[in-house]
Amino acid sequence: MDSTLLIAGGTVVSAYGVSVDTGVLVRGSKIAEIGPTRDMLRRNPDSIIDARGAFVAPGFIDIHIHGSAGSDTMDATSSALARMAEFVSSHGVTGFLPTVMSSPIEQMLAATRAAAQAARTDINPHGECDVRNPSRRGAQVLGVNIEGPFLNAAFKGAQPEQGIVSPNPAILHRILEVGGGHVRVMTIAPEMPGAVDIVKALASQGVLASVGHSGASYDDVKNAIEAGLRHVTHTYNGMRGLHHREPGVVGAALVHGELTCEIIADGIHVHPAAVKLVARAKGPGGTVLMTDAMRASGLPDGHYELGGQHVIVTCGAARLDTGVLAGSTLTMDNAVRNMVKFAGIPVHAAISMASSTPARLIGLAGRKGRIEPEMDADIVLLDAETLQVRATLVMGDAVYERK
Ligand SMILES: [Zn+2]
Repeated sequence: MDSTLLIAGGTVVSAYGVSVDTGVLVRGSKIAEIGPTRDMLRRNPDSIIDARGAFVAPGFIDIHIHGSAGSDTMDATSSALARMAEFVSSHGVTGFLPTVMSSPIEQMLAATRAAAQAARTDINPHGECDVRNPSRRGAQVLGVNIEGPFLNAAFKGAQPEQGIVSPNPAILHRILEVGGGHVRVMTIAPEMPGAVDIVKALASQGVLASVGHSGASYDDVKNAIEAGLRHVTHTYNGMRGLHHREPGVVGAALVHGELTCEIIADGIHVHPAAVKLVARAKGPGGTVLMTDAMRASGLPDGHYELGGQHVIVTCGAARLDTGVLAGSTLTMDNAVRNMVKFAGIPVHAAISMASSTPARLIGLAGRKGRIEPEMDADIVLLDAETLQVRATLVMGDAVYERK
């Protein structure tokens, strides 16, 4: 019989609101029961976590993160992924998609292979619990995000230009094959010749097709939606701004309900009012908080590397020598706090943008992203006043506890 753990006396967060003084009973790796704390105490749990003064929220899922703690997905090693997994769990993340950037194809394939291998040991494609790799402690690798290589070089941002190629079904096939069913998201510029066929292929294989690093017009995006485009990579960044006669990607993102919108809520990539605009237009079910973090996340200002390019981090802002923003040093808990502040929305709405909405997008709504019976016990405890992370549980296992 699995042992039981009661998270007692906290304020449990759902997509619809909060319930105070509520107990969450965890059995093994799953949430077993939820109810008033005094009732749950009668279940005689084997251990108790005191969650008074805390929000008990679904663990955050970062679907777009390149690196952190000195490591990068492009390092293509299990140790790099393990360092990321451990670091992000101290910021409330229970699952993430290591994100491969545009690079020479052999490098992209190596990084995809390493991330897919990690996903295979953490979560198998049939949705059953798998045995965790004992060398990795912290957040689970839930799949792979591929940012590129079919982008528009004129909107490359910090994606290395030599990694960007024309849409090519054979290259797509190689990436998806190496991904072994674990590629969950791919970013593409739908205005490039042949891109719409790539979008169709992604949609037919259950991969979330996302527009980004793109100069697409509003009509280009509309056509791509018909082909299966469903998501927007870091809305506003790597695309033209909103123009009233050519609304472009941003305009299409804001008005088309088929599209969900990523937003980098660090106060550097996007003005707080523009963050608020997305939150208002898309709501918690259409807005996705993510970090786009690179290896300097969690480390001091200084000199770093992204995609073989020199990056300097000053006051937390990562830039190439050209001044172009090169990923972020954002963490998911900070993104949630910023969203509450920038958009003036309730805490439970901001948390949905970091948990249930990304879980749904990557096909894991049945297991992750909500605190409900039968769901995986992926839980973050946040101080009610400050939203700082107190503890993180992954599959019922306390992987982080603040000292
Ligand atoms: Zn990125």
